[in-house]
Amino acid sequence: MLALLWTGGHPPKVEQDVIDSIKALDGDFSFEVYMSLTCHNCPDVVQALSLMAIFNPKVKTTVIEGGAFQKEVEERQIMAVPMVFLNGEVFASGRMSVEEIVAKLDTGAASRDAAKLNAKDPFDVLIVGGGPAGAAAAVYAARKGIRVGVAAERFGGQVNDTMAIENYISVLETDGPKFAAALEAQVRHYGVDIMNLQRADKLTPAGADGLVQVQMENGATLKAKTVILSTGARWRNVNVPGEQEYKNKGVAYCPHCDGPLFKGKRTAVIGGGNSGIEAAIDLAGIVEHVTVIEFAEQLKADAVLVNKLNSLPNVTVHTNAQTTEITGDGSKVNGIRFKDRATGAEHHVELAGVFVQIGLVPNTEWLKGTVNLSRFGEIEVDAKGHTNVPGVFAAGDCTTVPYKQIVIAAGEGAKAALSAFDHLIRS
Ligand code: FAD
Repeated sequence: MLALLWTGGHPPKVEQDVIDSIKALDGDFSFEVYMSLTCHNCPDVVQALSLMAIFNPKVKTTVIEGGAFQKEVEERQIMAVPMVFLNGEVFASGRMSVEEIVAKLDTGAASRDAAKLNAKDPFDVLIVGGGPAGAAAAVYAARKGIRVGVAAERFGGQVNDTMAIENYISVLETDGPKFAAALEAQVRHYGVDIMNLQRADKLTPAGADGLVQVQMENGATLKAKTVILSTGARWRNVNVPGEQEYKNKGVAYCPHCDGPLFKGKRTAVIGGGNSGIEAAIDLAGIVEHVTVIEFAEQLKADAVLVNKLNSLPNVTVHTNAQTTEITGDGSKVNGIRFKDRATGAEHHVELAGVFVQIGLVPNTEWLKGTVNLSRFGEIEVDAKGHTNVPGVFAAGDCTTVPYKQIVIAAGEGAKAALSAFDHLIRS
């Protein structure tokens, strides 16, 4: 329907910059995008590629509903949608925005972006990271009437990857993309300069000019009187066959978020550390049965958690066990395969969901040597969000603040913005 409207001249809700970049693409681009009608990641990609075909005659887009063309899907070994082919070769899979697709095609985009960023005046508050923490920081800072920018690799952050959010206070139920769009709308409402698809790779503390510098991957440098770091984290992957294919189709990473989706079903937890055992205890109260798989000879979680786990009737623990595959029926998870490391015997357990709980990795590699990090790589902050670097604050999943959740990240972002404002009025 949108493609029809746009073809008829109805303006798309896309920045003019992006339309100009689409029009400037040179070459022959023949896209085939496989999608399904129930896939929540597909509409963005289908719409993006349709829009590109409408605005640039050199772009051709064919949209294929996988269910109607099963033979084709099998021949091309498509296990997840959306799956995009360009000129017959795999181009991308998973959700992508039109900006991301254009950036992937347009080789001159990075240097043009860098020139635009370099030309910007210094910010009062520059936020690096556009998840819930960064968005809340942006709203709080902008409402003080100061100059605020957000540079983010992918605005919205981790919430983009979830289908159901049911624990953000005052919102009974929403999905990740809707939540991310609402974050962006509120940040834009306050006139914040959003620099999306921009990755920071170095931070330089303020020198004599009092400005902190953030160097970007494309070579640009942004300057600001204060910086808030909110680059979040990513779940550590177990890297076995099936994990990527069945992400969001039974493979989950957040028991607080996705546990209720498995009510009454059988699940597994990979990981016997504190987070894995907490997840197993949490899940045992909701699901029919939990299988815990731990690589080491013993569970590594605190004794009190292990004792609690052992008291539960619907939990089975396998230690010294190596997960070798997450199995599925092509559309969702149907089991987990693991190897007994002592005997070498392979086992397969039938179940509907697998929670990978082998840790979160903070996106802070680029800050090593500049900002104090914990041994887990989290940015050390005090109760007001200060880091050890003057004028640099941090919030959300990238910090030492426990319990990685949206509401907590948003609260911490707000706090960091108020601390940054306090710093500005005192210096
Ligand atoms: P993030 O959301 O991780 O955002 C980080 C931001 O920084 C992103 O914009 C990212 O692109 C950017 N970034 C990273 N590195 C750089 C860099 N070098 N330069 C520039 N930008 C960078 N929590 C709940 O409360 N309820 C739920 O239902 C829920 N469900 C979830 C489901 C899934 C599948 C996942 C993965 C997480 C879920 N969570 C949920 C956890 C929640 O999403 C996080 O706690 C929250 O998003 C953290 O917010 P954040 O802003 O700190 O970081």
